[in-house]
Amino acid sequence: PQPSPEAGAAVKAADRAHVFHSWSAQDLIDPLAVAGAEGSYFWDYDGTRYLDFTSGLVFTNIGYQHPKVVAAIQEQAAKLTTFAPAFAVEARSEAARLIAERTPGDLDKIFFTNGGADAVEHAVRMARLHTGRPKVLAAYRSYHGGTQQAINITGDPRRWANDSATNGVVHFWAPFLYRSRFYAETEEQECARALEHLETTIAFEGPGTIAAIILETVPGTAGIMVPPPGYLAGVRKLCDKYGIVFVLDEVMAGFGRTGEWFAADLFGVTPDLMTFAKGVNSGYVPLGGVALSQKIADTFGKRPYPGGLTYSGHPLACAAAVATINVMAQEGVVENAKRLGETVLGPGLAELAARHPSVGEVRGVGMFWALELVKDRETREPLVPYNAAGEANAPMAAFAAAAKKNGLWPFVNMNRTHVVPPCNATEAELKAGLAALDAALSVADEHTV
Ligand code: PLP
Repeated sequence: PQPSPEAGAAVKAADRAHVFHSWSAQDLIDPLAVAGAEGSYFWDYDGTRYLDFTSGLVFTNIGYQHPKVVAAIQEQAAKLTTFAPAFAVEARSEAARLIAERTPGDLDKIFFTNGGADAVEHAVRMARLHTGRPKVLAAYRSYHGGTQQAINITGDPRRWANDSATNGVVHFWAPFLYRSRFYAETEEQECARALEHLETTIAFEGPGTIAAIILETVPGTAGIMVPPPGYLAGVRKLCDKYGIVFVLDEVMAGFGRTGEWFAADLFGVTPDLMTFAKGVNSGYVPLGGVALSQKIADTFGKRPYPGGLTYSGHPLACAAAVATINVMAQEGVVENAKRLGETVLGPGLAELAARHPSVGEVRGVGMFWALELVKDRETREPLVPYNAAGEANAPMAAFAAAAKKNGLWPFVNMNRTHVVPPCNATEAELKAGLAALDAALSVADEHTV
């Protein structure tokens, strides 16, 4: 049926009657009924079109409905829609090959999962079995997924309601100069002090008790804090020194988001395990995974790996990954993210920051940027308090409403807006988004001192 307000109302009514939504107080939400999407845009049943600066939940790295990927999914569905994981299947083999070709160093074995959280679960399980140690060190200001272990590893308020006393996770502070925990004034100081803090944490926890250190290569949901040069190399050294497995979570940062195939490539660092999901097939069919180094894979050479999933390497999801990776290579999507990040988004956001007192800091790389909104640039007081809800969050709600009114769907988290368009967005689209952000920031400015 043609999109119509009546059709939209029916979709909305059934949603409100029967769909239980993630992370939400069910009575306080008002989901938009979406009629369709293409490229960098989606639209509702009233015909209102939005430029999507969220890439869904930062997963549509090649935009919506890419015709080649849609066709590949249709062809795979006609050929072999599903098959059990213990067999060798063409789409799965080819997806693994294409991923392994791009992952850093010797991360050449791929364990497929259904998404990012279960990839994190398995990476941690592999690290524990490999080392025989129980604990995991993870950063405050992080997000690693919604399943039990992954949410316990997460360093944001969504963990609190899920914490269990036996989760084996210890949190530490990773570098973030703008809100330094280390009284640092330069990136060099922040880097050195964050590494010293991590090594002290390892010493006091007992190196022989720590299976893994897990970090998002560039923390995403928590605020897109590109680590200073030398930090990840320093963590790599600490892991080697103490026999700890180094896990990089590239669920959000991977597959072109930072203008590299993987964010680890920005820093020349190779972890022992790397998780991925989202951009691997632009989120068209659920898929995630863990890339294993030879050393970890060898642990399970003669001894069975005690873990698996019914849909590990689902052919439909893998066919979508094969098509997505090929499209990204053929259409220069990674290069586009790098080039437009450097020439359009970075300079455009800096220009907005120069004019809008509500912008405390602009940071990012590629198609992965955050604006830190503040009440007061001098004190850096956030525009809304940490984890604000209701009336306390009104300034961010007003900012988001203004963006939508100007045709832009913004990513909003606490006092930040993240600028995370598809990695194949065009210069014209980015400029249109920057213009809408300009208008929305004028609303945020009204809440500054
Ligand atoms: N890890 C990171 C870095 C993420 O950003 C996310 C999701 O946003 C996850 C893990 C969880 O992935 P999923 O929601 O596919 O389980």
